[in-house]
Amino acid sequence: MQKVLTRIPIHVLSQDIAERIAAGEVIERPVSVVKELVENALDAGSHEIRVDIRGGGLRLVRVTDDGYGIPEDELERACARHTTSKITALEDLGRLHTLGFRGEALASIAAVSELTLVSRPIESENLVEESAAALITMRGGEVKQRGQRARLHGTTVTVRDLFYNVPARLKFMRGARTETGHILQLMRRYAVGFPAIRFNLTIEETVALQTGGTGDLAATLAELYQLPLAEMLHPVSATAEHYTLHGYVGNRALAQSSRQHIMLFINGRWVHNRPLQDALESGYRGLLPKGKHPLLVFYLELPPGDLDVNIHPAKTEVKLLHESEIVTALTQAVRSVLERSPALPSSPSFPGPELVYQRRLPGPRRRGLHVAESALLRSFSRRSSSPRRPMAACIS
Ligand code: ADP
Ligand code: MG
Repeated sequence: MQKVLTRIPIHVLSQDIAERIAAGEVIERPVSVVKELVENALDAGSHEIRVDIRGGGLRLVRVTDDGYGIPEDELERACARHTTSKITALEDLGRLHTLGFRGEALASIAAVSELTLVSRPIESENLVEESAAALITMRGGEVKQRGQRARLHGTTVTVRDLFYNVPARLKFMRGARTETGHILQLMRRYAVGFPAIRFNLTIEETVALQTGGTGDLAATLAELYQLPLAEMLHPVSATAEHYTLHGYVGNRALAQSSRQHIMLFINGRWVHNRPLQDALESGYRGLLPKGKHPLLVFYLELPPGDLDVNIHPAKTEVKLLHESEIVTALTQAVRSVLERSPALPSSPSFPGPELVYQRRLPGPRRRGLHVAESALLRSFSRRSSSPRRPMAACIS
């Protein structure tokens, strides 16, 4: 995704455009808040993004970035419906270079939580006169407080008491551990999708994920999985008229029991699209044991006009103009790597780096990277004050 280095002022979208933008519920659970706030930080050209979570995200989600910031006189407008600095005309939907464009996220979050926005625009630092960051707090969609804070350029959005005024939604929330698990999975995707950005996720004040932002995907994967992965990852690249594809496929020894380590990004956007998922799966069918899935990261670059992201509010489902050509390319890319990959070890004493790491981890689900995650989440729920209580109880 290309960084937006210049921005137009935040404005209200015309009725015509607003009506044509896929409407619907954006904020379904805490992970949706994290997604929207991190995407805003990415769209603002940040180099470093920090996320703090408490109580599975219902008590607190805080996202801090070093992006271009929001001028003081636009803070309140940013939290209104259909206000954006990313598109103006309908045609812009066909040449999107940002993850967001609907102008609804901050408004939707502010309506169901207490949201504090602190921002200092990047330009203010070039001014002779010092200017502090501006602050606005909204609760249930109403402005509660305005003020100023000292900070460098960038934006911090703090969301507290999510769904405090939507008891029906709270009732359906799973435990903090489940919500935290979704957030960790989401953050791992951003870290992989944007290896040039430094990400830091803390859960209950403990670092859960950290990347160096070197831009090197193999190094980022090694950081995320804490494994010496380089020799187990095979690079992939392919270019044709309508696309370029690059990424890595882990060898067969890294096969996982979960599909969550298969990550496909189109123009910087993580997507979940059935035909593309099937294309990847048919690439490894017969090459991995039943129920096993590869560790796989692909970036697909398409002309923005060949991709329609405006079919679902969450923008993870997309439509592609040259879908069948891309489906074939994805299948071939996976197959070509796994066919050459050394077979799975038959001996249980395989001394691969993955097992060296997992030896420290207790429990029957010893094989596979997911073990590391469940051990991590277990330790967070132990630390949180009420691990097994439903989230509704946690925030009351
Ligand atoms: P959208 O991202 O679809 O434009 P949002 O409701 O998420 O809508 O945000 C509204 C506007 O607020 C954005 O268009 C952007 O101008 C501004 N904004 C939000 N978050 C940030 C941020 N972290 N840094 C800079 N600007 C931001
Ligand atoms: Mg947004």
